[in-house]
Amino acid sequence: MGKLLRINLSTRRYSTEQIDPHDFRDFLGGRGLGALWYWQEIGPNIRPLDAENKLGFFTGPMTGTPLVSTTKIQLATKGPETGHYLCSNSGGNFGPRLREAGFDALVLEGASDRWIAVAIENETVQFIDDDRWQGLSPMQAREKMLGQLPGNKWATMSIGPAAENGIAFSSIFVDDGRAFGRGGGGAVLASKKVKALAVRGDQKVPVADAAKCKEIAANARMGLKTSRAQHRLLGTSQLVEIINELGCMPTRNFQTSWAPPEKVQGVYAQTLHEHYYVRNYACYRCSVACGQMAEVKDGEFAGTKARPEYESIGLLGPSCGINSMDAVIAANEMCDNLGMDTITAGNMVALVMELFERGLVSAEDNDGLEVRFGDGKALLQMLQFIAERRGFGALIAEGARGVIKARPEWEPYILHVKGLTFPAYDPRGFHGMGLAYATSARGACHNVGGYTVSDELLKAKYDRYAVEGKGELVKTLQDNRAYIDSLGLCTVVRGAYQFTPSPASETLLAITGYDFAPYLMTIGERVSNLERLILVREGVDRSDDNLPPRMKEAIPDGPAAGHLISDEMLDVMLDEYYALRGWDDRGKPRPETLERLGLTEVPTQG
Ligand code: SF4
Repeated sequence: MGKLLRINLSTRRYSTEQIDPHDFRDFLGGRGLGALWYWQEIGPNIRPLDAENKLGFFTGPMTGTPLVSTTKIQLATKGPETGHYLCSNSGGNFGPRLREAGFDALVLEGASDRWIAVAIENETVQFIDDDRWQGLSPMQAREKMLGQLPGNKWATMSIGPAAENGIAFSSIFVDDGRAFGRGGGGAVLASKKVKALAVRGDQKVPVADAAKCKEIAANARMGLKTSRAQHRLLGTSQLVEIINELGCMPTRNFQTSWAPPEKVQGVYAQTLHEHYYVRNYACYRCSVACGQMAEVKDGEFAGTKARPEYESIGLLGPSCGINSMDAVIAANEMCDNLGMDTITAGNMVALVMELFERGLVSAEDNDGLEVRFGDGKALLQMLQFIAERRGFGALIAEGARGVIKARPEWEPYILHVKGLTFPAYDPRGFHGMGLAYATSARGACHNVGGYTVSDELLKAKYDRYAVEGKGELVKTLQDNRAYIDSLGLCTVVRGAYQFTPSPASETLLAITGYDFAPYLMTIGERVSNLERLILVREGVDRSDDNLPPRMKEAIPDGPAAGHLISDEMLDVMLDEYYALRGWDDRGKPRPETLERLGLTEVPTQG
């Protein structure tokens, strides 16, 4: 579409800007363009909830095209959870509809002085004032917004009470089932007093060769029917059993990484499928439809509904000592209604449980509430306490960084890198994931950091406990992921278009008319390096590419018993990784690396 829509929430003025065509060539779109924009507009001294912070939403060249799963939109902002650069993506319809309105990107800047919603229809922007937005769940806010808009085909973003209360890990929800989950984007949107956004348009997203796109889409749909059949049937929850059996499942706040089957099978995919499954849920134009809508049918949590993904199950389940799908679904629904990231919420409640177990806190510190491992009811109450900043929730709401600042003696029990808490994989059981968490551009992340699960665990192409060779694996996965995130495509379907480290030409040729394939990995590398430049500008260096103390203790039991990642082991992986990246030994890109990637002349206002 070639255009960016900039909305100033302080002045309620908006404008359209042309995006430099060279930027598409060098950064594609999505995460790449988002990083470039961030580098240019968000300086190192701006704090996440300052009015000077901005939110940039960037689609990619595939977003909204007639191919399969072209759903993704990327957020770039300064995030409250790490205090640094945050990139986050979401499926749903917002990206495709934004393009139909005529834009590749949306920037929100300034801050409103009262609660508003923003509706974008083609090139017109409407501001809707209503103080009664406050306190609504993301779904309620979406429904209220849709009730005030004419016609249909609107896509929405909305936030919940957790964001309004500035919770460091509040999310931005998209439509009725996807989210910019990690890093606290919800709190940034709330700091601008924007409760919801809606967008629609009547433009067609152009492609260079419509007939070829149709053919590629049909082939992709056909291939995914077989290659992703299991994903459709069980969703990501199928990993719970596998990861537990491999000894990498966070259990009781990562005190161990495995539980005997009888203590965890209550949250296995089969249990979900047989007793809770309602229907599949799909993002825009996705034939995989991997979302699994589930409902608790009876008992104390009857009627609660959610789409529990592997990460949510792992962290609200075994990491909280919970072996009940009822409690996991209820907790997941509560996170959705409050508008919180299930991953960090699960980590933070597990932390509280461990603090109780160790006698470091008591019910008196927490408004009378005891929170113990395995107690589903207390899990739900604690989530509510966090969103309301009640009792101990007032401190927990600040996320890992906030807790460590206030109580540095609790750092040994907090699983994070750069402030972002751990996903549901214990890297002591596969060391490449440790390097991925340590070097990911947004803190501990299995996606941006590099999804080593396939190569180290599922296909076992690498010795999972080796440290040699992991630098190369992680670098390759990171650069591959960086270009996929820049395309506007869901990574689950990447294989259908051969978006691997050796990509095929035909898809992007049909969409853009340009053969990007020979350059895609270099574009990914360029994005990874620009993100590192941003972090270096924000004060990050090797000492931040670290793992928390618990990773340096041996796993006590299970299939990975005895394994750990010592400082020396991490150093070996970092040295290899930095050398391959062309960074110096403090983790700063060398001038010749920037020269090779064309990053020496990237303008900055920061
Ligand atoms: S595979 Fe799943 S996450 Fe990806 S686009 Fe389809 S439904 Fe959405």
